Amino acid sequence: MLFDMVLASKEDILIVEDSPAISMLLKNYFEKLGYTNIHACNTGHSAIIVFKELVDEMKNPIVFLDFMLPDMDAHSILTQILEIQPNARVVLETATEKDDEGIKELIRLGVYQYIEKPIRFENLKSIMNTIENEQSFFEKDSDKTGSNIQEKNSSKIIEHLDFLLKSSSQISIGLMEQVLGVSSEFFSSYLEKLEKDGKIISLGDKKEIACNRCDSVKITQIFYCPSCKGSNFKLGKLLEHYDCGNISEEKTYENDLCPNCGKEIKALGVDYRVLQNHYICNDCKDFFPDLSTDYLCLKCENKFKLEDARWKISKSFKVLNIS
Ligand SMILES: [Zn+2]
Ligand SMILES: [Zn+2]
Ligand SMILES: [Zn+2]
Repeated sequence: MLFDMVLASKEDILIVEDSPAISMLLKNYFEKLGYTNIHACNTGHSAIIVFKELVDEMKNPIVFLDFMLPDMDAHSILTQILEIQPNARVVLETATEKDDEGIKELIRLGVYQYIEKPIRFENLKSIMNTIENEQSFFEKDSDKTGSNIQEKNSSKIIEHLDFLLKSSSQISIGLMEQVLGVSSEFFSSYLEKLEKDGKIISLGDKKEIACNRCDSVKITQIFYCPSCKGSNFKLGKLLEHYDCGNISEEKTYENDLCPNCGKEIKALGVDYRVLQNHYICNDCKDFFPDLSTDYLCLKCENKFKLEDARWKISKSFKVLNIS
């Protein structure tokens, strides 16, 4: 029994990173922290396969995801991961702050935590500590239906609330209650203190999306290709050759030759143009400036459209600085 517990003590880690140097650095860090089951993938495609295999083995690996991968956009990878495992824990590696719009969108999509590049050992260590603490926080209460919530150690609740706030730019009381599994009376005085200290700002009552089946507000957006409904896409640059009307990825114009008509493209704006920031579907090869979106309930896994959503009102906060 004790032996089993020792074996189960460290979880699997999946590194999704196209730079071998960073991947190796992360692996070394994790080994120093005592992790032994470390998997590394350099493409989104291989990462989805490995993630699925691990989940099939009843594991829930902690995923370290590079924001920029050559074959798939981070939105695409996250959508696919959440569809496999709604309780996935994903740490996004990024060179930008959480205030960046792209990062905010990913945090809404279910990114669990983010780490800034260049990665520092101290930051990584604190993220892993939080994840481990959180795990034990939830394990204690899981499956004990009807257990007295007051038994939940209140300092643990606050610790986890801090973590939740750190990963959010804006959050409602309804979502805090849902994630922490306790009523707001257990942390309302702490929120008041944070507000007084200028660490959070009340935004008043806000409407937020709730699941139309189970009423949960633990909802995330998922994205897919408008043509084939797949979630395997990347963000890229397209070129349109005016002469023949061909539109395809920049890299298909090898040696500046149009892949459709074989003629050379010569002057930007004269015989061809660039379409920046288009999503390109890896499955059906279609491209589009915007993705289609649905909502996924992380509690009951129900998928629904915006027009079918239920709405709930609860007090929300803007998070400024939780240290
Ligand atoms: Zn639901
Ligand atoms: Zn498609
Ligand atoms: Zn052409």
